Amino acid sequence: SLDLDVSTDGVLTADTHLVQSWANLHALKQDGARTVIVAADGAFVFDSEGNRLIDGIGGLWCVNAGHRRREIIDAITTQLETLDFYSTFYNFTHPPAAALAAKLAELAPGPLNKVHFSSSGSDANDGAVRILHHYFNRLGRPAKKKVLSRHGAYHGSTHLAIAMTTPGYSEGWDRAEGLVHHLRCPHYWREGDGMSEAEFLDALLDDLRDTIERIGAENIACYIAEPIMGAGGVIVPPEGYHRAMAAICRDNEIKYIADEVVTAFGRLGHFFASEAVFGVQPDIITVAKGVTSGYQPLAATILSDEIHEVVSSPGGMFFHGMTYSGHPAGAAAGLANIGLMESERIPERVRTSGRRFEAGLRALGDLDMVGEVRGSHFMMGIEFVRDKADKTPFAPEELVGLKVAQAAQKRGLVARPLGNILILSPTLVMDDATIDRCAGILRESIAEVA
Ligand code: PLP
Repeated sequence: SLDLDVSTDGVLTADTHLVQSWANLHALKQDGARTVIVAADGAFVFDSEGNRLIDGIGGLWCVNAGHRRREIIDAITTQLETLDFYSTFYNFTHPPAAALAAKLAELAPGPLNKVHFSSSGSDANDGAVRILHHYFNRLGRPAKKKVLSRHGAYHGSTHLAIAMTTPGYSEGWDRAEGLVHHLRCPHYWREGDGMSEAEFLDALLDDLRDTIERIGAENIACYIAEPIMGAGGVIVPPEGYHRAMAAICRDNEIKYIADEVVTAFGRLGHFFASEAVFGVQPDIITVAKGVTSGYQPLAATILSDEIHEVVSSPGGMFFHGMTYSGHPAGAAAGLANIGLMESERIPERVRTSGRRFEAGLRALGDLDMVGEVRGSHFMMGIEFVRDKADKTPFAPEELVGLKVAQAAQKRGLVARPLGNILILSPTLVMDDATIDRCAGILRESIAEVA
């Protein structure tokens, strides 16, 4: 147990005023069931009933360095005592924002050397597109505005970010129409339709080429992609897919945005996955979550020198930025978090510990109810099926993912259900016994539900 004074008196009563995010609000109103998380330490969280749970979702794919890290907490506190707030508007700057921008430029691949800060992954992606629209205006090509995204993508929930997200995530909600075109989802197991993986890859590339031909490269500003799709179900694309997609984009002067909100800062064993894991040099990388390990809300849109050169050329203003762009406490958290990751070699260690986690989960593939175990390192998904042979899914109302997640939580592991899929994106600091315990709990939980 944790030696902390955590009062939960009145939380659930007061909670009737809190609008939960991404939740079935009606169901919450009916039964009111909540998990109240009151404290956290290392790889674990504590609920209001006094249970210690393995944080199998790392907060929300973000607490990469683990909870309650003294170095990050102290850096934030010291920063607040020195300079609580100043903006990065006009010609104002301050040491933590400047230092974090320099650090990100050092770590990001190739010519990605210019950093614009924001507060969330959604607004980092939103900003990436706005900046590219302005970039093409500056180049005298104002028609080059459309965005290519993909079915299965998750890029956030601002109006623009949700338009780039897979359409299924805005049923019943309005979306900005006409700007974004969704390409095929690169999920071979579900979408491969009897093709070999190489044939499936060709089909995906043809889809991109056909879409460019239909819309016209002169009308397309950018393509946005997560190296591994996260909230769309942890989809790892076929080998060579990102490199080939990037080459087609380059040939058509379509800027490549890598959404590394989840994949950066160690989750796949590197500070950034685009180049190190997938061999791609994007024009823009967006990050959030793991950049501060979730200790402060901070995100960044990291631009190539070339894009920055155009938007900073004479003759226009950079009309973009939020009050909290580069917040001192967020920037201090980012610097301390990255410092800790470097001194403890967290990304390097994930190359071993993440593989152990992945192997433990992959072994669950022998269970009847498990259709596919997919992902990489500390970014994994398990898809449950009614019939393994023909991949027949469970009906949504059977709530299979939710039932397995509840069974796992009862046994001490927080996992995230997503329809028939269970997502695991834990902290990157579990010891081997805890890593192995995750697979053990999942095996028992799936057996309970089967
Ligand atoms: N991009 C990806 C890949 C994400 O997974 C998320 C959030 O889960 C976002 C963007 C949006 O980030 P935020 O929730 O901080 O706005």
